[in-house]
Amino acid sequence: MLKPKLIVDGKRLDGRAFDELRPIKIEADVLKRADGSCYIEMGKNKVLAAVYGPRELHPRHLQDPSKAIIRYRYNMAAFSVEERRRPGPDRRSIEISKVSKEVFEAVIMKELFPRSAIDIFVEVLQADAGSRAAGINAASVALIDAGIPVKGIVTSVAVAKVDGQLVLDPMKEEDYYGEADLPIAFLIRNGKIESITLLQMDGRMTKDEIKRVIELAKKGVMEIYRLQRDAIMRKFMVEEDEG
Ligand code: UDP
Repeated sequence: MLKPKLIVDGKRLDGRAFDELRPIKIEADVLKRADGSCYIEMGKNKVLAAVYGPRELHPRHLQDPSKAIIRYRYNMAAFSVEERRRPGPDRRSIEISKVSKEVFEAVIMKELFPRSAIDIFVEVLQADAGSRAAGINAASVALIDAGIPVKGIVTSVAVAKVDGQLVLDPMKEEDYYGEADLPIAFLIRNGKIESITLLQMDGRMTKDEIKRVIELAKKGVMEIYRLQRDAIMRKFMVEEDEG
């Protein structure tokens, strides 16, 4: 198919400004069986995260006597994309699971839980580009919902280059037809961005563009971070009222 024009009259195909996120909804504690959970919508992405643990790791030979083992499974439901996906892990989801696991390795206080496992499950129910970022954002809230000690909140977003222009939080068409796509995650501590915990890119950008991408992403994640924090606050406030 011919590449459509992605920017028309200075606006994106869905009417957004270049630095505008898609609408976001976040709800913590949506699954009763999990220790922690979160549901997130970022534009048309719909993603659930469930956290189990810390719990004793079996088989025992996989245990680490000095810290908890973190496991992260990113999975796309067969019905999450237009063309039915074959169920089960593929190269892409294995890679996303690996890099996302590394994000949380750096954030969870895993030394507090020797010989344990902390399992993070991310199920993409509907995908529209940016699903790994949505998964990370949901997982971060679910971990806090589970009461697992963390160094801060992890917040993720992608930035793309489309028709020569840098745009925040690309949707499917922008991801697909754009010149570059760069998902990034930050650790935010006490309301301040502390470090980058994930940075991937496909396509091509100049050094100067990369700098601008990071600035654009920082603006985006601070907005998402406030919504993550609100979701956590709402959960704990309700509990207090009920008590
Ligand atoms: N996608 C798809 N089928 C696949 C994998 C991806 O239709 O098997 C779509 C889906 O909408 C996804 C988008 O392509 O969100 C972009 O995928 P990418 O690998 O860039 O990951 P994401 O942006 O979702 O983190």
